[in-house]
Amino acid sequence: MEPVVGIDLGTTNSEIAFIIDGNAKVLKDKDNGIVPSCVGLDNQGNIITGVEARNQAAIAPNRTVLSVKRSMGSETKFQMNDSSYLPQEISAFILKALKQRAEKLLDKKISKAVITVPAYFTDAQRQATRDAGAIAGLDVIRIINEPTAAALAYESTNPKNQRILVYDLGGGTFDVSIVKIEQGIVEVLSSTGDNHLGGDDFDQKIVDLLVEHIEKELKLTVAGDPVVMARLKHAAEKAKITLSSEPYAGIEEDHIGKKAFKDIHLSFELSRTDFDMMIEDALIRTMESVNKALKDASSLPSAIDTIILVGGSTRIPKISDMLEEKFNIIPHSEIDPDLCVAIGAAIQAGREMGLDSSSVLLDITPYTFGTSAVDELDGITHMHKFVPLIRRNTKLPANKSEAFYTMVDDQEKVEIKIFQGENPDALDNILLGKYIFNLTRAPAGSVIILNFDLDLNGILKIQAVEKKTGKKINAVIENAFSRFTDLELSASKERIESEWGSPEGVAEESEVSSETETEIDQGMPADLAETIKQAESQLDAAPSEDRDEIINLIEDIRDAVKEKDLDKAGKLREELEDILFYLE
Ligand code: AMP
Repeated sequence: MEPVVGIDLGTTNSEIAFIIDGNAKVLKDKDNGIVPSCVGLDNQGNIITGVEARNQAAIAPNRTVLSVKRSMGSETKFQMNDSSYLPQEISAFILKALKQRAEKLLDKKISKAVITVPAYFTDAQRQATRDAGAIAGLDVIRIINEPTAAALAYESTNPKNQRILVYDLGGGTFDVSIVKIEQGIVEVLSSTGDNHLGGDDFDQKIVDLLVEHIEKELKLTVAGDPVVMARLKHAAEKAKITLSSEPYAGIEEDHIGKKAFKDIHLSFELSRTDFDMMIEDALIRTMESVNKALKDASSLPSAIDTIILVGGSTRIPKISDMLEEKFNIIPHSEIDPDLCVAIGAAIQAGREMGLDSSSVLLDITPYTFGTSAVDELDGITHMHKFVPLIRRNTKLPANKSEAFYTMVDDQEKVEIKIFQGENPDALDNILLGKYIFNLTRAPAGSVIILNFDLDLNGILKIQAVEKKTGKKINAVIENAFSRFTDLELSASKERIESEWGSPEGVAEESEVSSETETEIDQGMPADLAETIKQAESQLDAAPSEDRDEIINLIEDIRDAVKEKDLDKAGKLREELEDILFYLE
């Protein structure tokens, strides 16, 4: 059987994938499989591609070509030193580099490929892509649309009839498509977007901010200096990527200039909140395209079953939040958004080879993990609003930080609770642990950064850091996955829901006086039961006057729960926790 590879020939980056042992895999050559779509000539006039070409782009723009995909199908000529090239010739160099990678890693001659193109590509653009393949020595046996490939990648993990919205935001382009899958057949119903919108624009916004800061605060003009500007661009992208998982990013660039014979260094901090504001207009524009795609496909938002995120820039958390708010669905990003299209192309390539059951191996978290904070829930201030940090279906290992703020001046401590679940009310989720963090007295609004690090084995490491002082606490939840299986989780949810709703159920409980403690607390919200358990375990060691008070409080909590007065139970629990805290 002749091998067929799948290729995502992207504007910023390209990837090549193949079916290995029944699974679609992106071919990684001591890297992450992402090959910059860049071509250049080195100092000696030799053709270079990928990372090597991208690295020289800033210093040798006259012999480096970027974003050739934008010109496919046109007569544009690209000049590198004295030679001129057509877009399909430049693309052929990228395809050659990918082909070579596959031949080396698979130890096979490769001459057939499936290549993806944007859904809006015209016939001329598609033909130019075929020609690029032919120039590179590849028979392009199929051209498929990028949203189709993304849908194929997900369909193999979740085969069913569905309508999918594919939101694809890369480095330089934005596409949104509505795709219908019926009986395994994938059809693009509509596709629209913006050919000049992407992560590069976000980097530029940060660069502009840095240049303004350097001019105003450091009294230095750097705008005309290509080397400093290239460094700022690089630093800006790094900060942007950090902000996808951290609430703050530090930008440190030494020796960006000299003033009165003294070296000037740049040190700047950007918050995720400020970054989100800087890109808000661009994100609103993408949502206008989303509305247009829905209209073109004659679909209402409620007709969308699944949202798929494609392209590196969709890792920006604001994008998922925005889509979730509009569609009430959590977007899928478990297949690496950079690799998703190439994986879909490989699945199609596998089909062309007669392999039908190609699938994608995923290491994802089956649960959402988060904490609780005071915030609005259904328009009312709630003391225990669930704040998810690592969402269900996130690829593992996962690392995520969020900033939280103290509520009052001189606050002495915060209680950090870790929950597993999906309910916006944290109290309806499963409490995995809670920790007291003693703070340095500071004004209200002081920042505490909470970090969750979840590995493949379900070990959840938690760190809280007081931003101003760097003081931290660490905790580990050893097996965050095995606490509850899906079945147990839904059983416990069902139980809690039905028992809260049925006074008879609660009354029955109260009559069973000879039950063990755990049985008595059945139907008790998880956090209350946990506090009671903790209190009971400390009874023996407690001084007698505290012991009496603990016992009274436990009984009062149980009574309040029986009376379904959860507010009262919550207040009593706080009293009980204060005692336990001082005993500890
Ligand atoms: P693509 O064209 O799909 O390869 O996407 C490339 C773009 O994704 C570049 O602008 C990257 O800076 C951006 N990108 C990659 N990772 C992240 C991240 N974690 N957060 C935000 N942007 C990212």
